[in-house]
Amino acid sequence: VSDTRVGVLALQGAFEAHSRILDQLGAGVREVRTPAELHEVDGLVIPGGESTTMTLGVEREGLAAPLRSFRDAGKPIFGTCAGLIMLDREHLGLMDVVAERNAFGRQIHSFEQDLDVAGLAEAVRAIFIRAPRVAEVGEEVQVLARVDGDPVAVQEGEMLAISFHPELTGELRLHQQFLERVRAQAVLVG
Ligand code: GLN
Repeated sequence: VSDTRVGVLALQGAFEAHSRILDQLGAGVREVRTPAELHEVDGLVIPGGESTTMTLGVEREGLAAPLRSFRDAGKPIFGTCAGLIMLDREHLGLMDVVAERNAFGRQIHSFEQDLDVAGLAEAVRAIFIRAPRVAEVGEEVQVLARVDGDPVAVQEGEMLAISFHPELTGELRLHQQFLERVRAQAVLVG
């Protein structure tokens, strides 16, 4: 489907880097700040940034209920870092996980490592920046990668959330997989 439209939540944070990657992969990208703009897209990236600020933006724009309907319609969402926090039970409640902010022990600022992610043949160079740890996962949640035993990539239905930043390393495969899901769902959902 050539006219698949993908949104990047652009309230705050690293949204431009995600837009560039999606554009590079041939998707029609829209910045999403309002319920009306969300309505125009078939999938959504929630970028890294600052989850407290992003939560204020979601409240200001009245996006929580529209995002729930978006999820209920089977439209894929891909959250990275603060985006993972936004998806958890204590924020938007779109995934059955609980994220713990700034959680990697003494390495609260930044670290990077090669990470095996289920479904990808070669490791991902993963950069963690004040990254969340997934502290609890529900029964329907699939863990795709772990660091020191803690989940850092989780999938539940059409929702994918990761603790790290693929947009900083030239990593394209996760966005590519997300786009494939968006295209597949757009055909089903119409
Ligand atoms: N520490 C940030 C938060 O709690 C997330 C960091 C990031 O997105 N790089 O929102």
